[in-house]
Amino acid sequence: MARQTFVIGTAGHVDHGKSTLVKALTGIDPDRLREEKEREMTIDLGFAWMTLPSGRRLSIVDVPGHERFIKNMLAGVGGFDAALLVVAADEGPMPQTREHVAILDLLEIRHGLVALTKSDLVEPDWLELVIVEVEELLRDTALAGVPIVPVSAVTGYGLDALVRVIDQVLDQVPPHARSGKPRLAIDRVFTVAGFGTVVTGTLRDGELEVGQEVEILPRGLRARVRGLQSHRTRVDRALPGSRTAVNLSGVEVEDLVRGDVLTVPGWLRPTMLLDARLRMLPDAPEPLEQNDEVDFFVGASETLARVTLLDAERLEPGMVGWVQLRLQEPVVAVRGDRFIIRRPSPSATLGGGIIIDTAPRRHRRF
Ligand code: GDP
Repeated sequence: MARQTFVIGTAGHVDHGKSTLVKALTGIDPDRLREEKEREMTIDLGFAWMTLPSGRRLSIVDVPGHERFIKNMLAGVGGFDAALLVVAADEGPMPQTREHVAILDLLEIRHGLVALTKSDLVEPDWLELVIVEVEELLRDTALAGVPIVPVSAVTGYGLDALVRVIDQVLDQVPPHARSGKPRLAIDRVFTVAGFGTVVTGTLRDGELEVGQEVEILPRGLRARVRGLQSHRTRVDRALPGSRTAVNLSGVEVEDLVRGDVLTVPGWLRPTMLLDARLRMLPDAPEPLEQNDEVDFFVGASETLARVTLLDAERLEPGMVGWVQLRLQEPVVAVRGDRFIIRRPSPSATLGGGIIIDTAPRRHRRF
């Protein structure tokens, strides 16, 4: 049976019209405080959702705030099916548009489209110029050649076309593997009256079932799945790739934080040392030096880390190298997971890459 639920993540410069567009598409205001929804027990899993013309159900993860963008993108990699890059036609690509595109590229997100919104504010000639600018921005990235659709969230122009294009983009997305063990990077933790502890995230790799025992890392807490919601529907089993809310018994909200990982007991071990292949962004603001301190993002978690460069004295922008990361806090990751590093202050994305070893030998460079 063809998969029916998909997740798309928005990206784009602040004020370029992401929330307004999501609201125009779905009727749901992603900025609305989630608490009011939780009280009704209608958990806004994807923050917003809609049914596409094909009958597919789509969750849209709209993430205001830059750090949240990175964490949600990372938590969703392998879970997000596609990216919806929003560019305001009157301004064209801006610094955060560029940084988001760079991050999507580091994460090797290959499926997506561009909504060229606020097109009601510009002349057709100008629109053509911005389209060329966006095409150039995406050239040489994993998103090169994706469709660019002019829309206006205010007049409604182009929204039907945008929805059809989303369906076409999702036609290309390969099915998620269902054979592995489930992993859910927890991106929200809250209580629902009468239900207790609920966590949400995008489920990766495997399935979760009501009644199943789970482990929450890095603290190693055991809990049981009391209930599941997937794309707003109560289910007995949650499938890989779905935005999932897990109602847990045996743990309190106070025991859990964003960035924790929910998985099967006894499988994964938290680590504070990782070997990785790192790609520096071509326009990183500075090279990476031995022992530099960086903000390290993997899954929905973030921690400070020191970098040991294993095959170079310094990594210039645009270079690729082997690194060992010594983390300040334990994280839960598996080989093949993608990560991002940022300079803590002033904050800027430096690069990212792929985790190769989660239990490496400690390098004695320092
Ligand atoms: P976000 O920060 O990317 O989520 O941006 P918002 O959705 O909050 O929009 C920023 C501003 O642009 C708001 O004042 C919106 O009313 C306005 N806006 C959004 N979409 C459009 C559009 O299609 N046309 C026009 N004229 N204004 C828009």
